[in-house]
Amino acid sequence: MSVYQVVTLPDPILRAKALPIQKINDGVIRVLDNMRDTMYAFDGVGLAAPQIGVSKRIVVIDTGENYIEIINPEIICKEGLMTGSEGCLSVPGIVGRVNRAKKVIVKGIDRQGQELNIEGVDLLAKALQHEIDHLDGILFIDIAVETRNDDRGY
Ligand code: ZN
Repeated sequence: MSVYQVVTLPDPILRAKALPIQKINDGVIRVLDNMRDTMYAFDGVGLAAPQIGVSKRIVVIDTGENYIEIINPEIICKEGLMTGSEGCLSVPGIVGRVNRAKKVIVKGIDRQGQELNIEGVDLLAKALQHEIDHLDGILFIDIAVETRNDDRGY
């Protein structure tokens, strides 16, 4: 098990556009495993590779129902609108209210290189959008309609 330190602002890797994975090799599998271990160690709902210092297009998510990992995720459909509360391990001490699509469909590939299609509603839709934004250097504080300090520190 490898728990990494989570990168926090103002680290510039959080603002970079992450690169797609061209080939799934041992290094990619290792990154996936490290992301999973790190997300669970910090009780996160999701984690994007830049948050452990790897500027690649990989996200992991667990909203409490299923563990999901997606390589080269891409939102192919968005529907509806919701406003919800968000925090981020990379932006400690701040929470905000963010407008998101209520439902998304995301395509990508899994660690075996198989194509995936994931449909997320509500919490999973929020997590997918939040994590995929990280791959383009976008943080929830950039798009939040309101932010405030939170001592519980996500
Ligand atoms: Zn985040």
